[in-house]
Amino acid sequence: MEQAEPIDSLMEKIVNLCKRRGVIFQSADIYGGFRSTYDYGPVGSLLLRNVKEAWWKSMVQLRHDVVGLDASILSPPAVWEASGHLENFSDPLVDCKECNERFREDQLEDLGTCPACKAENSFTEARAFNLMFKTHAGPVEGTGHDVYLRPETAQGMFTNFKLVQETARKKPPFGIAQIGKSFRNEITPGNFVFRTREFEQMEMEFFVPPNEANEWFEYWCKERMNWYLDLGIPEEKIQLRPHDADELSHYSSGTSDIEFLFPWGWGELEGVANRGDFDLRAHAQHSGEKLTYFDPELGEHYVPHVIEPAAGATRSMMAFLLAAYDEEYVNDDLRTVLRFDERIAPYKVAVLPLSRKETLTPTAQEIFDLVKSRWMSDYDETQNIGKRYRRQDELGTPYCVTIDFDTLDDRAVTIRDRDTMEQDRVSIEQLVNYLGERLS
Ligand code: ATP
Repeated sequence: MEQAEPIDSLMEKIVNLCKRRGVIFQSADIYGGFRSTYDYGPVGSLLLRNVKEAWWKSMVQLRHDVVGLDASILSPPAVWEASGHLENFSDPLVDCKECNERFREDQLEDLGTCPACKAENSFTEARAFNLMFKTHAGPVEGTGHDVYLRPETAQGMFTNFKLVQETARKKPPFGIAQIGKSFRNEITPGNFVFRTREFEQMEMEFFVPPNEANEWFEYWCKERMNWYLDLGIPEEKIQLRPHDADELSHYSSGTSDIEFLFPWGWGELEGVANRGDFDLRAHAQHSGEKLTYFDPELGEHYVPHVIEPAAGATRSMMAFLLAAYDEEYVNDDLRTVLRFDERIAPYKVAVLPLSRKETLTPTAQEIFDLVKSRWMSDYDETQNIGKRYRRQDELGTPYCVTIDFDTLDDRAVTIRDRDTMEQDRVSIEQLVNYLGERLS
C-alpha cells in the first residue's frame, strides 16, 4: 500500500462524498436548495449522533458533578435583554452603493475597495445587524408577543440555575450541560457546515466558587482538548489559542479557543470562557430572583462564577470527517477511507452475504441479529463484494463481516479490518466476543 498524492481540494471531495453516501444533503434540494441549511442523511444522522453521544458521555455520564438539561429554543425578549444579546450580539455591516452587495466590515481586507465589483470608496457607514432570529408567538403580531430563537444554548442553563441546583441537590463546583439547536442569522455563512444559520451546539456551564475560577478554567481547557485528541483528531491539527484582550466578548474575563486546521486555515471548534459572575448577576437583576448559592460552611451567600466550554456539534462533526479522510493506492486502485475512531463511526459493523443467493440469506440474517442490538450495523447484499467493501470504507465502518458458501459448512465468517484490510476467519460462536474486544 502506498500513500496517494497529497490530498488536493479536500473540501470538494468531502462535500461529494457526503452527498454520494448519504451523510449531508443541501436542504430543500428538490427546490434548488436553501442556502446555508443542511440535512443530515442516514449516515450523517448517525455520525452527528455519535459526536453528541461521545460529548454527553464524557461531560455528563462519566461525571458526578455535571447534570443535563434540555431547554426550550423559543424565549421571550427579557432573557436576551438580560444576557446582553439584544444590545451586543451584532456584526457591523456595510453595503456597496454600486453593486448592493453586503459585507461584514470586520472581514473586509480593504475598506476602500468593494471585493465584488471593485468600486472605490463605495461603502455605506457601518451599522449593527443583530444576529438573532425574531418571530412572534400566538396569532397576533406585535410587541409583547415577540420571541427569539436562541442563538446559543447557554442561557437555558442560567435561567434554570436555581431550579437545577436545588432539584439535583448540587453545590458548586458543578455543571449543567446541554446539546441542542441554535440559530444565528449569519451574514456570511459558508464553508459547508462550518458556518450555518441553524446549527447544533454542545455547551456546559460550570458554576464554581469565585476563588476557584482560574483553576477550573485551566482544567476545562485541558479536558476539552483531550476530548478531541482521544477521539482521533491528530495533535498537529488542533490548538488552544488564548484570546487577545480586544477579542474578548462582553461577558468574558478570559477565553481560549480550541481550533482545528481546516483546509482554509485554523478555525474555532469550541470556545472555553471564564464568564465570571456576569450571567447570573444579569439574570438576577432583570428577573428579581436571587441567583446565589448559600455555602453552609462559610455561612454566606455568593454568586458563583462560570466556566463555559461551548462547542459546535455540527462543526466538530465536520472536523472529525476532515481528520478521518484518507486516500491510498491498493494495487493501482485508489481507495478512499474514513479512519474514524470506532466510537464516532456511523456503522460499527457491516454484514455482507457474499451473494444474494437464497441459501446465504438465513445465515446472514442470523449474523445481523447477533450484532444489531449491540452495535449499529449495516446490512448490504447488493453489488460485488469489492464494491461493497469500498462503500463501507467510505462510510468508515471498522469491521465488515462476510458470509460465504463455506460458512454454511464450517459456521465461520470472514472479518475484514477497515484500516489494514486484513481478514480473519472467525467462528459464528466467537463473533460477538471478537468484535467486543475491538469495539466499545
Ligand atoms: P465564530 O467566531 O466562528 O462565529 P463564535 O465565537 O461566535 O464562533 P460561540 O458563540 O463561542 O461561537 O459558539 C460556540 C461554538 O458554536 C463555536 O465554537 C462553533 O463550534 C459553534 N458555532 C457558532 N456559530 C456557528 C455557526 N454559525 N454554524 C455552526 N457552528 C457554529
